[in-house]
Amino acid sequence: MTRKTSARDALVARRGPFQEALLAWYRACRRPLPWRESPSPYGTVVSEFMLQQTRVATVLPYFERWMAALPDFAALAAAPGATVLRLWEGLGYYSRARSLHRLAKAVAPPGELPRTAGGWAELPGVGPYTAAAVASIAFGEPRACVDGNVVRILARLTRDPARHRDGASASRAFAPLAQELVNARAPGDHNQAMMELGATVCVRRRPSCPVCPVRGFCAAAGAGDPEAYPSLEPKRTERLSVVRVWCERGGAVLLHRNGSGARRLADLHELPTACQAGLDPARACAGPLIARKARGITRFRVLESIHSARPPPGRPGPGLVWVRIGDLGSIAMSGPHRRWTTQILLARKG
Ligand code: SF4
Repeated sequence: MTRKTSARDALVARRGPFQEALLAWYRACRRPLPWRESPSPYGTVVSEFMLQQTRVATVLPYFERWMAALPDFAALAAAPGATVLRLWEGLGYYSRARSLHRLAKAVAPPGELPRTAGGWAELPGVGPYTAAAVASIAFGEPRACVDGNVVRILARLTRDPARHRDGASASRAFAPLAQELVNARAPGDHNQAMMELGATVCVRRRPSCPVCPVRGFCAAAGAGDPEAYPSLEPKRTERLSVVRVWCERGGAVLLHRNGSGARRLADLHELPTACQAGLDPARACAGPLIARKARGITRFRVLESIHSARPPPGRPGPGLVWVRIGDLGSIAMSGPHRRWTTQILLARKG
């Protein structure tokens, strides 16, 4: 019998006490988040979409603003796409906002809400994690959620010796164990407890094992090496350089609007790259440097330089629009470009 099999089997054999310890801790210590305090299927769906790849602290003000403006599926279904994007602006991963909008149109009255993870998984933008979260939290289906937090907890509880290619393959590997451990009497709270434990106690670096409610079930804590789990192959990062231009004319700034069919950032405005503006990147680079920005996008490390440039002659090319500086607040921009544009304009005033 391997070490993994024995630790896993021991955990499954004690799943009742494990569930009780986890649930008691969650009910006593959970953070009072708005989607938990006044739960509704709509609030659960919105929060689960917003929480994908995004921290709770970041989501909170967006969730409150969204629920005030679009309080139910019908209101969201009836809202213009520009309103939806504007409310989402700054949260990133904008395909989530468009999927949520399409989902609302699919389920708004007189449609019926699915009650199972299988039913939710058929709706736009709903992956296995979100489907399980909504079905368990809003409808009590005993279906386990598996994300990075859950993988980390299970890998440590079982002291999992496997080396996983990436987070997705680790999630697949742990899905059966997560399902065996789910509490059929309170699946929504069980899943939220696992999420809460991963976010607040069993964190990536320096987990708080001494105060962990499931320490007595944890092989890695017993061995003193929790940070070694899960074991993932290192990510390969690639570096990219992008030259962007700041072109201004008569109180307006030149922006690039991504097409509605774009895979990323559809309908959002950004400062144009030199190529999008019809300028030679090497020549644009020779212009005054206004700002230099570095950010990570998936596996890419992107270094962006923004140069002041003379506007290209003639009518703007495809996707380019002149936007009056006073109107920038009313258009949808990607979060970083909103920040950069604001910083550039503020620096100029200073
Ligand atoms: S005891 Fe430590 S490593 Fe184990 S689940 Fe709890 S916080 Fe994570």
